[in-house]
Amino acid sequence: MASSSAQNDEYWPIHIARSDGQGYAQLDHVALRDDEEQDVAQRERWEVIVAGHLQNQIGPKDDKRQYKLADFPKGYELRCAVRTQAGTRDYYLYGHPAGPKAHYRTPGEFALHALWLISDSTDNSQCPCDLCSKYLEKAKQELAKTQAAPTQTQFPAPTPTQQPQYQQPQHQAPPGTTGWTNVFRVGELIWYKHAAWRLGVVLAITPKPGTPLSPGASDSSYHFTLAPLGHALLQQASIVKDCQFMRPFLTFSVPNTAMDELKDKTFETVDWPALAARYTQEPDPSKREVNRQILGLEASKMGARTINDAFSTFDLLRQGATPDGALYVQHYRGIYLGTEMVFVGDPVRVASDTQPTQQLDHHQSPSDANLNLVMLITEIQVLTPSSPPGARPTLQFKGNLYRTIRVPANNTTPNNLPQGLVPVPAESLGPAFVEELATRNAIERDNSMCWTWALVAAADQQQGVLRPEHDVLGRFYVTEKLMSVIDPPRLQAWVQRGLLEEAPAYLNNRGHSGGGIYVGRRAGRKATLGEAVGVEFSAPVGIVEN
Ligand SMILES: [Zn+2]
Repeated sequence: MASSSAQNDEYWPIHIARSDGQGYAQLDHVALRDDEEQDVAQRERWEVIVAGHLQNQIGPKDDKRQYKLADFPKGYELRCAVRTQAGTRDYYLYGHPAGPKAHYRTPGEFALHALWLISDSTDNSQCPCDLCSKYLEKAKQELAKTQAAPTQTQFPAPTPTQQPQYQQPQHQAPPGTTGWTNVFRVGELIWYKHAAWRLGVVLAITPKPGTPLSPGASDSSYHFTLAPLGHALLQQASIVKDCQFMRPFLTFSVPNTAMDELKDKTFETVDWPALAARYTQEPDPSKREVNRQILGLEASKMGARTINDAFSTFDLLRQGATPDGALYVQHYRGIYLGTEMVFVGDPVRVASDTQPTQQLDHHQSPSDANLNLVMLITEIQVLTPSSPPGARPTLQFKGNLYRTIRVPANNTTPNNLPQGLVPVPAESLGPAFVEELATRNAIERDNSMCWTWALVAAADQQQGVLRPEHDVLGRFYVTEKLMSVIDPPRLQAWVQRGLLEEAPAYLNNRGHSGGGIYVGRRAGRKATLGEAVGVEFSAPVGIVEN
């Protein structure tokens, strides 16, 4: 991080890579001048004090070197207020997302925020600085305002009655997860790299030894114990992997089977013991091992399709018959939906219905908008018809639909949004929504524009929207979290270009990833995984499969 040169009063430069600075076009007071002695001296004073704080907090104890910020984080600007009468010059740092008037008065105040910027956290509530708490307070007030005055907008804004009936405590990681926004969860089917890409099931997630876990630690702070997918009779041993060698299931397509005799079959219609016996009759031990591996690979492909086409529920919240008695409805807190684990409170990608095209603004093509459509799940329902007996249950999801939009930074009033969209503060939607905006705004280069979440107008907003199982395409991942696992160089390129692509373009849809034969409801995750894994899967502590 440091470089040296021949100067005597040498400082070691510190770069703060992440920034939430807004680069406002109109600011109070005047810009600093390189030919003004006081300006130059004050800028250096701020840079040295802030860097000194960072060194104190995170540097080695015996480090005697002197540090200085190489620059303020992008979008922050130190400005000078000249008091003409007294002739003194005061310096303030502008750029915080709280607004163009918000400023830090001392380098010590800003050092707190700088420490947060170099941490893993993208949650402003975890920053101890003054401006962040003011910022959160303002967001809360604005939410209350939108809720109190629905007539200002063409479509009513969310009202308190629309709040989820069952709300997850958003600060706690749900069971089986390491946080709301991390990529991998226990019981999920994933790809892992072991010479080639293989399929496996996450059995357990454990913190890496020796690294203190900060709140909100990302996937890279954990080890993942994986059960290779194949067939139980092949007795494949579990392995431990780092997230850098893993990918969500929906990032790759499952190749077709290479063995003719397996075509047109499903995992359950194959006579695996007979097949295994035949393949392991080979007298040459090395050929026998290769045969075993081929068989494991074929079994994993077929097992994956079956798992993808199944679901199982956990944590029953309530149940009862509909007034006409036609359906029995069960509400759940969570579901293993195909390869993924999903909770009430999670965002999921959903298929776009036929919304009129005037909803699109000129920055986004229709396909971008479709990729963007996200449902914040408030209910997971299993519906079983009361007749005929034994009728197959169906699955549906309830929640409001949102998407990210890019709008002029200083004017996000509803009138300025594409028709049918209502701005919603990300804080009211949950951590994934907050992190997604933070990423997008940090990458955005055009200071006159910013990203926000918008409620996509629904036919009946009091009720939220109901979507059947096949409309749910898969989990919504925060762009930064997903891309830093599946393609860090690409994410880096987006940051450098200041232009973000839609990460869902790198994901398949659940409906396109199965074997074409719907499996439906299973008793639990262990039943869904069946003979495809060699170890006994146990559901994460804290959930009850029912
Ligand atoms: Zn802060």
